[in-house]
Amino acid sequence: MSSVMVRLLRAQPFEMQALDILAERMKAMSILAKDRFHRYYKSSILPIPCLAYSDALVFNSNYYHMLSPDEVLAVGAHEFNHIAKMHIAKRLLRTVLPAAVLTIVIGYLFFINFDSFLFIASAVVLFFFFFLFGSYYVNAKWFRKQETESDLSAVEFVNGAAMISALSRLRPQKTSWLSKLMPHTHPTIEQRIHNIQAAVSTKNSFNFTITFGDGTSR
Ligand SMILES: [Zn+2]
Repeated sequence: MSSVMVRLLRAQPFEMQALDILAERMKAMSILAKDRFHRYYKSSILPIPCLAYSDALVFNSNYYHMLSPDEVLAVGAHEFNHIAKMHIAKRLLRTVLPAAVLTIVIGYLFFINFDSFLFIASAVVLFFFFFLFGSYYVNAKWFRKQETESDLSAVEFVNGAAMISALSRLRPQKTSWLSKLMPHTHPTIEQRIHNIQAAVSTKNSFNFTITFGDGTSR
């Protein structure tokens, strides 16, 4: 699927050894299964900052060029956690699959009640998108939980300050009527920064206790 999307997004591949090393440390193995020239992409038309597939990452090129090398790794670490925990496949199961099943049921009811193929086909397409949208709404909280989990496990592998500055570059978020209507699959940028700051300070005080506790520095 990623190869089709890469073509649709007119994305350009690039290689980066630092991301490969991070992917290996975070056990995002499915992306490492691809050859190293076709793991990371930049697209100028991608409408979000970064998109993860099980075997590829696509960055919005404007966003990518704003980032420092540490910030690129921070964004990568968040996405690698999605890959390592197989969030992408789990999301498909909870969004596309129920929508497809409901659409088949509706399609069948239309098929036995109506004769016009065009009418049945348009109803099927409309209902599929309606159900898909609905399942994003139903699962929004579950999506947000995965986003927080990905932010917090990324902090264990990369610089927390770089994660925060990479997120800060996304502000101010657009608050159009359309974005208000969309299911909120991510916590707000402020909430994410707050959670990362809390995790970083816990991590720092934990390290401090260990060093202080046994009198050696590790
Ligand atoms: Zn994410």
